[in-house]
This record gives sequence, structure tokens and C-alpha cells, in this order.
Amino acid sequence: MSPGAEAKPPQRVAVVGGGWAGLAAAVHATTLGHQASLYEMAPQLGGRARSVTHDGITLDNGQHILIGAYRDTLALMRRVGVEPDQVLHRQPLTLLYPDGSGLCLPPGPALPAFARGVWAWRELPWRQRLGLLALAAQWRWQGFRCAPALTVAELARRCPPQAYRELIEPLCVAALNTPAEQASAQVLLTVLRDALFGEPGAADLLLPKGSLDALLPRVAGEWLRQHGASVALGHRVMRLDVDASGADIDGERYDHVVLATPPGEAARLVETLAPAWSREAAAFRYQPIITAWLQASAARWPQPMMALRADNRRPAQFGFDLGALGGPRSTYALVVSGAAAWVDAGTNATRSAILNQWDEAFPARQHGPVKWLDSRTEKRATFACTPGLKRPAARVHARVTVAGDHVEGPYPATLEGAVRSGLAAVQALGRAGSGA
Ligand SMILES: Cc1cc2nc3c(=O)[nH]c(=O)nc-3n(C[C@H](O)[C@H](O)[C@H](O)COP(=O)(O)OP(=O)(O)OC[C@H]3O[C@@H](n4cnc5c(N)ncnc54)[C@H](O)[C@@H]3O)c2cc1C
Repeated sequence: MSPGAEAKPPQRVAVVGGGWAGLAAAVHATTLGHQASLYEMAPQLGGRARSVTHDGITLDNGQHILIGAYRDTLALMRRVGVEPDQVLHRQPLTLLYPDGSGLCLPPGPALPAFARGVWAWRELPWRQRLGLLALAAQWRWQGFRCAPALTVAELARRCPPQAYRELIEPLCVAALNTPAEQASAQVLLTVLRDALFGEPGAADLLLPKGSLDALLPRVAGEWLRQHGASVALGHRVMRLDVDASGADIDGERYDHVVLATPPGEAARLVETLAPAWSREAAAFRYQPIITAWLQASAARWPQPMMALRADNRRPAQFGFDLGALGGPRSTYALVVSGAAAWVDAGTNATRSAILNQWDEAFPARQHGPVKWLDSRTEKRATFACTPGLKRPAARVHARVTVAGDHVEGPYPATLEGAVRSGLAAVQALGRAGSGA
């Protein structure tokens, strides 16, 4: 506490939802000296970024990538006792395709690293390299700002075509989970400013080694219990009643409530309390992500993550060698982001398109046969990050704040956005002290 600041009495804080936003809120409230109670309706913590068991193998609900710019997520992991270097594989941003082409950023300060990386991208004709550097310089000169109504495709219409297909489109769909023709140019520029052109190391890729559970959810759950917080699993909160002196969660009294559920559920819980907020939260549109797991015992990749050429017959934009990341051996995760069109195409069509894509990228004569293991479709993986999207504010009522990757902010739906909103949702409670 800063000298002279008045100590406040500890508050009873309910956090509804045990995803990364709710975990951040509960850990932070506990650190500030408050009495936190976390409610999660699933039998485990982690929300959309959790581990799941498929046929006896532990995999993640979907492959996740963190980047060096995820400052608050990495700090939260350290706070609960996880050393990021031990659970994350760090490498400079590399979009390497199976034919060996692609952008590889060297380490070091962002701008020179980007310029050197683009210049070393030999498969890109030199005129396109110059065109890409000129475009990046223009975005920087404009302060990474553009008209709010622009889509990424419109923003990048002067981008050289191969650079657009092999850099801008994959970066857009990886960061915003929304195809470039529909995605918000302003949000992508903000991500580029803070990651690609941010601090040294901000653009580094941090790939989970092993399961997502070990990065935060399981450890944060244990940390909370050890520090006196309560964690109720399998409890779907059905009612929130608020008055001037506090709030009731399913009949249990609290001083403050953090709703860290997806927006539709938060909208239901505050429908009477804050109808306008509820309508705004209920209006989100979503984009799916499909993750397919394949087994190929003879495949050899030069690095754990590969970019893949995607179009209307090749669904996946990225592949991950889980064995090289400490997960199950010979197992590969292929990720289809912004996958609405493939969900419409149906499971069988998507499965055979992914298998064809694999065969084309990693021919059996070099990489041996491939076997389909499983797939998972998250229909509401993230909100569709479209131009001018209005996102609901974090404050609903003096006693109710909202956390989650959907809350008003400059970034797309990410772990870092979720964690930052969780921290912010309890920050205003201040530090509790015995002097009250
Ligand atoms: C397949 C996939 C891949 C992704 N890849 C990336 C990536 O590479 N990088 C990245 O940064 N982000 C990625 N994301 C996005 C990231 O997972 C989310 O931004 C983040 O997990 C959101 O966390 P959250 O806490 O806001 O929400 P959630 O994780 O949705 O958590 C909300 C929690 O609330 C619980 N809940 C709901 N209603 C109630 C209730 N009434 N009572 C009690 N509990 C309730 C839910 O069960 C859930 O656990 C990906 C998402 C998916 C699905």
C-alpha cells in the first residue's frame, strides 16, 4: 500500500467463470487481500484454453499460441509459481512453409529485425519485398491507425500479392480468428504495433510444451485453494441479485461480483439489472476454430510449428508437431481458424480436405502414411473481430464488473485480453489491509 493510503476492509468477491479471465480475477483479488470464491460450471478450470482427454491422450481443447507481448499472462503464470521458460517453447516469429519458404524474423529490436527478415525472404521476388517494407513503413508513419470501417483486405489492397497471401492473411486469421475480407484493419494494426513492431522479443512465438493445464488452470486452482480462496467446480451460477449493499450469487452474499463467463451467459445473468448492457453482450457474432489431430510416425518437420498454404480447398493455416513440444509423439495438430465456411461444408468434407492438404504438403513417399486421430470444432471460439465492432464495457454496476476476452478493449479475443480484463475487474477494489 502506498504511504498515506487508507487500508480497506477485505471484500467478499465472487468470480463467476474459471477461464483465464476468471482465474486472473480470483488470483488478483486474493493477492490484494480479499476473500475470493470462484464458481465454474465445468468439472475443470481453463474455459476455452483447457486440456481435454481424447481416447486416453491428453490434448488441448485447441492449439494455443502465446507471444512475447503477453506481458500480463506471463506475469500471472509467475505469480502462481509457473516459470514460463519451462512450459513454453520460445522462438522468433517464423512463418515457415513446408517447401522451406517463408518469413523468419531474426532476434533483436523489432524494426531492423523485420526489415532483415523480409529482405532474407528469398522466395518473395525483390519487388514484393520492397513493396512489403514500404507498406509497413507507411503503416508505422500513420501511427498504426486507419479508418474504423476498413477491413484488413481493404487496408492491404496495395500489398504485393504473395506477401499478402503468405504473411498478412495468415497473421490476420491467427491473431483475429477472422478472415481478412471481414476482419477489422484497426485491430490488426494495433496487434502489429504492439507485437511485430513492439519491444524486442514481443513478436516471439511461445508454444505450450505439453498441456495448457500446466500453463495456468491447474496450477492457479491449486494456488487459490492454498491461499484460502474457495473453488467450486461443476456449479453453474443461475441467479445474480444485486442491491445497494451487496450481491447474491445463487443465494450466497458477496460485496462484489466479477462475471467472467462468455458474453451470452453474462447477458442472461444481468438481463434485469442492466438491460442495455445485456443486449449489447448478447449481440456478438462468433467465428469457429477447428483443430484436427493426425498421427504420422515417419514425418519429420524442421521446427514444431509450420505455416500451411490455405485456400478454399485447403482448410488449415498452421500445423504443430506436438511430439516436438513435449506432447504425444508423432502427433500433429492442424488448425483451421476463421473456420465458418468449413463448418458449413460439414465434418466429412473438412476431414477429407485436411487429409488431402496433409498429403500435398507432406507427401507419403517422404513422410510416411498419416492417420486421422480426432478433431474438435469450437463453434464460438472467439467473437468475429469485424470493423467498428462495439464491445460491452467492463462496469455493469457499482457491485458488478465483467471480465473476459470480449470486454471493451483494443485487442482481439486472446488469452492476454482475457487476463488483462480479469486483473482490471478487481483492481478498483484496492488492497485490503488490517488497518481498516
Ligand atoms: C480452439 C481455440 C484456439 C484458440 N487459440 C488461441 C491462441 O492461439 N492464442 C490466444 O491468445 N487465444 C486463443 N484462443 C482464445 C482464448 O482461448 C480465449 O480468448 C480465452 O480462453 C478466453 O478466456 P475467458 O476467460 O475470457 O473465457 P472462457 O475461457 O470462455 O471462460 C469462461 C468460463 O465461464 C464458465 N461459465 C460460463 N457460464 C457459467 C456460469 N453460469 N457459472 C459458472 N461458470 C460459467 C465456462 O464454463 C468457462 O470456463 C483460442 C480459443 C479457442 C477456442
